[in-house]
Amino acid sequence: MLAKEFPLMKLWKMVVASTLVASTAMFAQGRGGGAGGGQAPPPLNLPADTPRITQLKTEAAAEVEKLKEFSQQMVDQIFSYGELGFQEFETSKYLVTVLKNNGFTVEEGVAGIPTAFMATWGNGKPVIALGSDIDGIPQSSQKPGVAYREPFIEGAPGHGEGHNSGQAVNITAAIVLKKIMEREKIGGTIRIWPGVAEELIGTKAYYIRAGLFKDVDVALFTHVGRNLSVSWGDGGGTGLVSVLYSFKGESAHAAGAPWRGRSALDGVELMNIGWNYRREHLPLSQRSHYVIRDGGDQPNVVPPTASVWYYFRQVTYPGIKEMWAIGDQIAAGAAMMSSTTLLPTRVLGSAWPRHFNRAIAEVTQANIATVGMPTWTEDDQAFARAVQKELGANQSGLTTRVGGLQGPTDPSTNTGGGSDDIGDISWNVPTVTLSYPSNIPGLPGHNWADGMAMATPIAHKGVTAGAKVQAMTLVDLLLKPEVITASWDYFKNVQTRAQKYEPLIRPQDQPAIELNKEIMAKYREQMRPYYFDPTKYKTYLEQLGIKYPVIKK
Ligand SMILES: [Zn+2]
Repeated sequence: MLAKEFPLMKLWKMVVASTLVASTAMFAQGRGGGAGGGQAPPPLNLPADTPRITQLKTEAAAEVEKLKEFSQQMVDQIFSYGELGFQEFETSKYLVTVLKNNGFTVEEGVAGIPTAFMATWGNGKPVIALGSDIDGIPQSSQKPGVAYREPFIEGAPGHGEGHNSGQAVNITAAIVLKKIMEREKIGGTIRIWPGVAEELIGTKAYYIRAGLFKDVDVALFTHVGRNLSVSWGDGGGTGLVSVLYSFKGESAHAAGAPWRGRSALDGVELMNIGWNYRREHLPLSQRSHYVIRDGGDQPNVVPPTASVWYYFRQVTYPGIKEMWAIGDQIAAGAAMMSSTTLLPTRVLGSAWPRHFNRAIAEVTQANIATVGMPTWTEDDQAFARAVQKELGANQSGLTTRVGGLQGPTDPSTNTGGGSDDIGDISWNVPTVTLSYPSNIPGLPGHNWADGMAMATPIAHKGVTAGAKVQAMTLVDLLLKPEVITASWDYFKNVQTRAQKYEPLIRPQDQPAIELNKEIMAKYREQMRPYYFDPTKYKTYLEQLGIKYPVIKK
């Protein structure tokens, strides 16, 4: 999912509280007041950096810079695996090895998900969990550094979202901090975890259910973006529930005795027709889409089974539940019309709408301002403009200035958009998502074009900039306990005052770990020869013999 691509509806609330000690009532005044727009509220009264903190941040950023080849290798390695959600076996094995080699203890297969893990280093409080997604996009196989469509393998998956880059941000920052913490005898625990199957919004609610964040003080999430930025409050975009509707009919000879058959596919098609009529009468902020997973076997056999997979998206949790109930009702109606049976539904994934923490966002933003954007070369800009031209987008090139702190989106004027199951974590623990500038603006998302920059200097430099911010924010959280106190004050007294977390997954739902298995089985052996070999080549572009940037003449 694209996490932060919908800046248009970012409207500041008229929050009048000017200090951290502001009462709940003062915070509450600014919420739910409609689309006011208006002034950015004054920042919270968080402690300034002491000379020691400033010096440690400077050191941390310099150490991240020294590790840029290490970060680049991780970005390239994961890009070359191009694995889909729940099947990130090479990626997971690689990350676990890197983490173990750097002194982390790793618990694998957490929450009943084979490719998930929780890596831990350090002792005691605070516990800071660094996460980022690792899965790819179907049919987005694409050579990097080439500004036109050129797949490695037609039809194969690839990193057409850029999820190959975020772990490098976190792991580089963690390794740098670990060294500083050891030398300076700073207490605290660093956790590293992967967003498995984020494109299926398939795991983070299960991480919460398994208690993986129970003792976590702060979650720092990273997601590939076009800028270095962070936000707080209700995010743009939506949350969602992903539901599989399966119908059961009766097979018959489709020509010899069609009257004996009951078509499960009729159930699916009638459900889709019902939904497509009903869609007109849903709030404008909704998004809904489906694919038919089972449409029968062959035309001369009346389909005895069929299934359709829906994403129901809305900007609030109650809104998602309402859409889901309408979907269930339409499915029941379709079964009745087709004289088929609607089998028990399966939730294949879910995501709460995102809400990010104000105190953590403010310290992150200060570090963003210090780090600034990477220095793009003329080659980087020429490549970006060529990709934009190829896609018919505005040829603006790469972003050159960091964004300001983004405040809350008003749910009543939020026009919807993508989702990310980091939402579930953000409603359980103070969380922010750091967006780092590793991709090209103006692309469609979930597309081969979104992979073009993801193993080039654009991605590499964006990751190093992100890792610097992440390392500096870790210094803040480890040495300023007031920031963590402030983050929980906001979490308890503002964010969750009126809205408590209830998982969208039901007790009977389990992680859909079988998804994408067949696709990966089909392509994995063809993809293997393209895996990055850092023992032979410095970069993946070098291994592929690509003279970046390759641009149509
Ligand atoms: Zn994503």
